[in-house]
Amino acid sequence: MLKLFHKGLSWGSRLVFQVHNHIRLTLLITLLALLVMLPTGAQGWGFWAHRRINRVAVFTLPPEMLGFYKMHLDYYTERATLADSRRYTVTGEAAKHYIDLEHYGKLPLLNLPPHWKDAVARYNEDTLNKHGILPWNLSLVQWQLTEAFYRQDAGDILKLSADLGHYMADAHVPLHCTKNYNGQLTGQHGIHALWESRIPETFGEAYDYYLGQAQYVEKPSALIWQVISESYAATDSVLTLEAALAQQVPDDKRYTFTSRNGTAQRNYSPAYLERYSAVLEGMVERRIRLAAYRLGCMIFTAWVNAGQPDLNTLHYNPTQEKPDPEMPKLQMQDREAH
Ligand SMILES: [Zn+2]
Repeated sequence: MLKLFHKGLSWGSRLVFQVHNHIRLTLLITLLALLVMLPTGAQGWGFWAHRRINRVAVFTLPPEMLGFYKMHLDYYTERATLADSRRYTVTGEAAKHYIDLEHYGKLPLLNLPPHWKDAVARYNEDTLNKHGILPWNLSLVQWQLTEAFYRQDAGDILKLSADLGHYMADAHVPLHCTKNYNGQLTGQHGIHALWESRIPETFGEAYDYYLGQAQYVEKPSALIWQVISESYAATDSVLTLEAALAQQVPDDKRYTFTSRNGTAQRNYSPAYLERYSAVLEGMVERRIRLAAYRLGCMIFTAWVNAGQPDLNTLHYNPTQEKPDPEMPKLQMQDREAH
């Protein structure tokens, strides 16, 4: 996937071009036609959505847990996007963010073993890594978090809770469960960022974040596969609704161009964002709410399974951490689909 990733980036860089005054109009018209085939500077679940999901999940936790997470809320929320930056520095990280379900036949969810060992026995590790390991990785991080609660390691509890939030959020995105993850197979380049970054960033402040109290999850693995199954079932709507809308909206109404210091970039127009959000009938808000609520449930479950350690006795001072090599400065334009 990293190959596609870099391909995406080089396409992205072509979007930036010099606009000379005397040929500005001609260039714009020509490039309008060309750019339709190219992706915008796509991003994963935007920073905004990842942070919001991690943050609001905390408020589903019971009082015994709430104080600890509130005390470290900024640190934990800030780390919501760290897993994405690791894709550049840690081998094998990229595969943890998606699963291309089509690879496993017409009814992939009947073919795929929910447990990693069984999946490796059936398909081998290389195949699984090649097509994404999001659901199995989620189970692993859930187990690691349980173990961190058991050790009462405040730093690891916060880091793993933040990672669990990241992968849980990714699992709720339909386009993380299909090989057509950026509409590249259907002429819909840019739909990944449209659905999971532009719409939540534009409308997300008005979403309802009252989520209720976290519940204990008897079988975390079953919940994870349920999330994947829901996301996969929604991929068709995400893609076909946008394709139908694109038919109705001419390119000059679908995109706007911003120009700064002589460079121009293509973006979906505010009117198009509004229309796509409307035809999705609240899907983005529903997936964000479910991601946050279920994250709360998973964190709560890990704590219960670890014997409900007293978090009020734990202390952690992130400022005493050594500089984290996994925390490079993130560039928004570096965040391509998946
Ligand atoms: Zn991700």
